Amino acid sequence: MTKIYVLRIGHRPGRDKRITTHVFLVARAFGAHGFILGDTIDEKIAETYRKITDRWGGRRFFFTMGVSSRKTVENWKRDGGVVVHLTMYGIHIDDVINEIRGLGKDILVVVGAEKVPRFFYENADYNIAIGHQPHSEVAALAIFLDRFYQGKELYLTYPDAKILIIPSAKGKKVITVANKEKADKDHCRQGTNRDGC
Ligand code: SAM
Repeated sequence: MTKIYVLRIGHRPGRDKRITTHVFLVARAFGAHGFILGDTIDEKIAETYRKITDRWGGRRFFFTMGVSSRKTVENWKRDGGVVVHLTMYGIHIDDVINEIRGLGKDILVVVGAEKVPRFFYENADYNIAIGHQPHSEVAALAIFLDRFYQGKELYLTYPDAKILIIPSAKGKKVITVANKEKADKDHCRQGTNRDGC
């Protein structure tokens, strides 16, 4: 199975805390397998990772920070993976998403903050536009993952979650892990459990 990791580059602690947190949340919730915060250590992001995965599951979701973004890209390619850089200047997603899915290779998705250095345009295997208007790394990542997984990621659950939401037309229904076994079995039957049961 293809594994998708998200590399967040250009993060400025303080200024980008909220948006980088949202990049991580989307990566985890929309079916990626890991999140890498390049070149920077930000304990606030690490704290969010710990809190979210402890409560909502995904302790096997990979998280690291402070590693060189450029080396991560180089190593990913050396190891046979594909590097996708999301940028409004790239090729329209509709023109390449089937090809990328068909490669069956692990994917590193690079998303930027402010000015993205040329290195990433030149070393990406694919520079992909989610439309050609400027918007946000959070929106771009969400749509990339959704197009890649063709909507199936919205049924994702994590088996190590302590709590689960029971969909409800009104109000909030949440069950704790004690009642989770039945819910897991249901998800296994639907084929939407993260570990494939
Ligand atoms: N001006 C920056 C640059 O040099 O490309 C982009 C800044 S934008 C606020 C931050 C990130 O959002 C980009 O690096 C890109 O990953 C993502 N992004 C924004 N609009 C996008 C689009 N239309 N398609 C793909 N990615 C986009």
